[in-house]
Amino acid sequence: MTNNYVIYHLHDDKGSLLDSCTKWEEYVDRASDCGMKAIASTNHGYNLNWTDKKLYAESKGLKYINGIEAYLTPQLYHTKINKNGKSEQYKVRDNFHTILLAKNRYGVEELNNAINKSYDSDHKYYKPRITFDEFFNLSNDIIKISACLASPLRCYNDKCVDYDSEVYKRLLKFYDYYEVQYWNSQDQIEYNQYLYKMSKEYNKPLIMATDTHSINSYKAECRKILMISKGIEFTNEDEFDLTFKTYDELVNALEKQQSLPREVYMEAIENTNRMAETIQDFKLNTKSRYPILTGSRESDAQEYIKHTKSMFKDKVDKGIIPFNEVESFKKDLKEELSVFKKTDMLGFMLSMSELMCWCKSHGIPIGPSRGSVAGSRCAFVTDIIDVDSVRWNTVFSRFCNENRVESGD
Ligand SMILES: [Zn+2]
Ligand SMILES: [Zn+2]
Repeated sequence: MTNNYVIYHLHDDKGSLLDSCTKWEEYVDRASDCGMKAIASTNHGYNLNWTDKKLYAESKGLKYINGIEAYLTPQLYHTKINKNGKSEQYKVRDNFHTILLAKNRYGVEELNNAINKSYDSDHKYYKPRITFDEFFNLSNDIIKISACLASPLRCYNDKCVDYDSEVYKRLLKFYDYYEVQYWNSQDQIEYNQYLYKMSKEYNKPLIMATDTHSINSYKAECRKILMISKGIEFTNEDEFDLTFKTYDELVNALEKQQSLPREVYMEAIENTNRMAETIQDFKLNTKSRYPILTGSRESDAQEYIKHTKSMFKDKVDKGIIPFNEVESFKKDLKEELSVFKKTDMLGFMLSMSELMCWCKSHGIPIGPSRGSVAGSRCAFVTDIIDVDSVRWNTVFSRFCNENRVESGD
């Protein structure tokens, strides 16, 4: 057995807004000092900055595990009959916690899609939510772990009012691991023992989580201040110590907790390493690329040329471009489009035009121009800027020329 473990349930200050004061980098540095081999990010409901996190973890020699602590709801809407005798839909704030970890690059995509959906107006209710049905439809590219005391598995026996026992059994069968924790609280002790029983019944492994929220006790104090500012106060704080634990500290805490036999919790700790080994690592493509809007770079390029021509005609028709300047515009547009083609920038111009037009149509102020793009007449014609370069004597080659090919920003 390895004398270490993997922290796979962890919150940092960026993602879990107002639920942690510790930076991701602080955790990674500490985990690296402790000789840990992997580390996961599981902020509440979303995984912002996951590429930065992955690159940083890898720079310290750790495997990065991309995940979230999701909010699950049995159903989005409930129905009731209102006082006028009509049926009315309403939402229930039953947001259960569940850890979802991407097993590979496909899992990352799948997780991102699930997160996207969880934010739409139907799904969101106080928190971004995933329905039980959507959860049951997640593929094997996602590892499902039952999470903390707020897990749907904790709705056992008569505590469960939100869904029936068939759904409950389905949950028990669907999770890859049942999560136990080391906190010395009566609730956690009972829950660990219950999960141990279920793990034998359903033949599922237990896995040990730390639900880490702070790197040390100072940062835990800072977090407490944040929590108080949100109106949440703790009474039994000593029971819920969420600071970073080394392997030895974790084992000691479990010895003290005495919820499970030693060989059972040691196995649950070892399962964090086994689980991390099943994660298939992949390299990020860090080369900058432009977004593709219409299916391929080629079709985007064609689209921008078409776009420029039709917007040019429109501006001439409306008198925005005076008749005596039409020929000079035509000449400049032709030249610019050929440079964009050579420097592979037509697709970029299309995406900028779409973005700026969208901002304008939604009342978002964008200013007359940004940096060297003020030198482009194409940019003026396609509404990326409101500045005509000839009128203001700005130079196209400052913005784009064949001898200086670099990504626009
Ligand atoms: Zn939780
Ligand atoms: Zn958590």
